Amino acid sequence: GQPGRKLGIALVGLGSYSTHRLAPALQQTQYCRLAGVVTGTPSKATEWMQKYNIPKENVYDYKTFDRIADNKDIDVVYVVLPNSMHAEYVIRAAKAGKHVICEKPMAIMPKECQDMIDACKKANRQLAVGYRLHYEPFTKEVMRLGQEKVFGPVKFMESSDAFRIGDPTQWRMKKAMAGGGPLMDVGIYAVQGARYVTGEEPISVTAQFSPKTEPEKFKEVEETLFWQFQFPSGAVCNSTTSYTAGVERLYASCQNGWFELSPAFGYGPLKGRTSKGPIDQPVVNHQAVHMDGVCKDLIDGKQLPNHITGEEGLRDVRLLQAIYRAAETGRKIEL
Ligand code: NDP
Repeated sequence: GQPGRKLGIALVGLGSYSTHRLAPALQQTQYCRLAGVVTGTPSKATEWMQKYNIPKENVYDYKTFDRIADNKDIDVVYVVLPNSMHAEYVIRAAKAGKHVICEKPMAIMPKECQDMIDACKKANRQLAVGYRLHYEPFTKEVMRLGQEKVFGPVKFMESSDAFRIGDPTQWRMKKAMAGGGPLMDVGIYAVQGARYVTGEEPISVTAQFSPKTEPEKFKEVEETLFWQFQFPSGAVCNSTTSYTAGVERLYASCQNGWFELSPAFGYGPLKGRTSKGPIDQPVVNHQAVHMDGVCKDLIDGKQLPNHITGEEGLRDVRLLQAIYRAAETGRKIEL
């Protein structure tokens, strides 16, 4: 790309995350800007054009979306739709010749993730997952503490992410659109936490569903789920995810000390401490540092770092499915 130019991002799906997080963050970014939108809701199109000064030519709906191929203002398509729609829109974006950022979970099944990776490769475009925490300073610090064994090898961990969900009619409660319950939505952060603190891939998993305390509400998806990963070094991690009550904790006990983040996965400010004292890091806008990090590499013509690409998204989706299999069968699943 031309030096000094900001990449144009088009957000696909103007729901809560686009409206309250991504669009405001794009007012603070150095390497990208909000250039277009794709929405199925005409009133949102009007509102966003006015609010963010988006020209009419850069506004699409789900039918006209493929014409984005001809739009030179749009370099990157950011898919912020319900989980079951990620694969289709990532593949269409790649076919339109755009780089793609896809929200987490990358898709519901591993096969879809592989198709998304293949489509981007074929189009010679890069694919990033919305793993905002990989650019977040507190998170980067616990990655360092764990992976560089600053307190010695990690022995055991807790990595848990849960909240009490509101509106029971939303797509997150529908199996077909969400792929599952809290595991797909926020449990994925707990999976990520265990992987980025140890720097290892789990070798086995056991898992248990809790009894449903609100069966009317949780007709289609799990309410609470526990799982345990074992890692090649011998490290183990215990995790909880839930839509019925909250927890947000990433804790690692090491041979010579411990460290933790709590809150560990939300929009921040994150907070952390170690057996030696508080973790002190700058507070940043997670979405701005994520989009800037991705777009800077795209501008520089660099390969995106492995840990935010489609391959990383695929690894997590495989693990999410293995956790469900372990909980359903009651058996230990070897990975
Ligand atoms: P919302 O339900 O708030 O928004 C989804 C949007 O998708 C809708 O507003 C709508 O936009 C569009 N859409 C198109 N078809 C449908 C449909 N059939 N049902 C519902 N919506 C539809 O979801 P969120 O913004 O909270 O989440 C979107 C994605 O972002 C999810 O994959 C989620 O996991 C991820 N996310 C990631 C976060 C992070 O921290 N990385 C945080 C929050 C969410 P329109 O009216 O414009 O067509």
